[in-house]
Formats: sequence, C-alpha cells, structure tokens
Amino acid sequence: MNPIPVIGRFAPSPTGDLHFGSLVCAVGSFLEAKSAGGKWLLRIEDIDPPREVAGSASRIIRDLQRLGMEADDPVLYQSNRLDAYQQALDRLLEDGLAYPCACSRKDLPASGIYPGTCREGIRAGRAPRSIRFRVNHSCIFSDGIQGEVSDLPADSSGDFVIRRADGLFAYQLAVVVDDHFQGVTQVVRGADLLDSTSRQICLQKALGFDAPDYLHLPVVLSGDGKKLSKRLRADPVIHQDPVVSITKALQFLGQQPPDGCSLETLWQWALKHWDKRQVPARRALSPTAMKA
Ligand SMILES: [Zn+2]
Repeated sequence: MNPIPVIGRFAPSPTGDLHFGSLVCAVGSFLEAKSAGGKWLLRIEDIDPPREVAGSASRIIRDLQRLGMEADDPVLYQSNRLDAYQQALDRLLEDGLAYPCACSRKDLPASGIYPGTCREGIRAGRAPRSIRFRVNHSCIFSDGIQGEVSDLPADSSGDFVIRRADGLFAYQLAVVVDDHFQGVTQVVRGADLLDSTSRQICLQKALGFDAPDYLHLPVVLSGDGKKLSKRLRADPVIHQDPVVSITKALQFLGQQPPDGCSLETLWQWALKHWDKRQVPARRALSPTAMKA
C-alpha cells in the first residue's frame, strides 16, 4: 500500500496584500509540505465579497511567485465551490446535525456563546435567518507546534453558524469541505485560528472526513504588540528584496538561514534544513522580541 501523499496548503482570503504575518504562514506551510516531498496547494478564500479588496488575489499569487513559492496544482477559488458547500450543508441538515436559527445579533448574550435557543425548533412567528451546526462533543487535539489544545467549541462558541444570515457560507464549513476535497493532510497556519480548529474538527467528524495534522505558528505581532493585519498595512517586508523577506520569515520561524545567498540557494537550504521543532511554541511573537 502506498503511503498517503503529503499535501499542504496556504489559503489566504483576498482582503489585502500579502504581509509579513501571512508570509510567515505561507513559508511555514510550504516548507512543511515540500521538505517531506509533498505538494503545496494554494486556495483563495473568496466567499466573503463585502470584505474583499479588488485585485488582491492576483497580487498575492504574484508576490508568492516572486518570493519563490509556486503552487503544485491550479489555484482553487472558493467562489467556484458554492455547490459543494451547499451539498455539505444539506447533508448536515438531513442528518439533524445542523438546524435553522432565527436569532439576530441582539438576541444573543454578550458572551457571544449561543445559548441554544433554536436547537429544538424555531419559535412560532419567527423566520429562519442562519444555519447552525449542532456541537455535541468537545474536541481536544494535538497540535504539531502548540502541543495539546483543549479549546472546547461548546464553551467558546456553542452551536456555531455555518450559513450566515446574509446567505454566505461560513468560513468554517468552506474550509473543511475544501481541505477534504483537496486531500489536504496538514494545515499549517497562524495560531489566531486555533479556536477555529476544534470547530473544524467537529465538522469533519460530522461529515465523515479525516482530520489533517495541524500546526499553528505563532502570530506575528507588531512593535506595539498588536497582531499584524492586512488592514494595518504595517509591513514593508514583502516590498523588500525577496531574500531579505524570506530570511526574516525563516528567522521568525526559529530557523537559522545562512547570510548572503541567492533566493534559489536560500530555498535549497530551507528545504533541506526545515525543522518544525525549532518553531517557537508560542501563540504570538514579535519579530524584535525574538532576536533578544
Ligand atoms: Zn437561534
């Protein structure tokens, strides 16, 4: 029997240009897959049009190529996958694992934890707005970098929305359906998504999908301790020389790349020497604090 091929992926949403935080995730996912002889895929998570920035998907793809990272398969766009999300949603509804919810934001408690109001049916006179997934189990999982994570969806969110009141599919559902569709065996991404992971594992179980391995990298903090975001537009690193950008990303991930080589040589070194055990097991880290 052939071993299951390693497949990793980088899945940005086109809400702005690549920044140092997303570059770190791209580099980590690329090296974890490619150093194991696997494939690295690129998926554009473009199912939330109100948040998207025109042209950013093509700029992300172009910047990744310029930095030496090219996907092994054609880029998958989530906007082309709506039928698959609908099928998964229908299955969950048929199996009683999802249900319509009539609550609006003002019906929910300040904690944000859904109290299960519509679990046994919608009250008379109210119309369904969203669809929620019925969370029956908690998920403890072992993360390849952060260790054991016991974030419990029932405590952190309760039954969560998988189709929003505006009719859009929720991130959690689309990711799970696509990771399965693309045969993804390892998910390497920022630790800001740790609380999504247990929800995604619940969805995988409900849909009968295998769970990939998870590795959550420390989130890049800016100088003032805030998470770098596309909206802050705070980092010029990807406008720098590609060698400088990739070197900084490798250093952030605890690797010790050589100085003064070409981009090609740097990648050869990185593929040969990538060691996920050197990645700091931290939820967040500022690049300057790391050097100290
Ligand atoms: Zn409700």
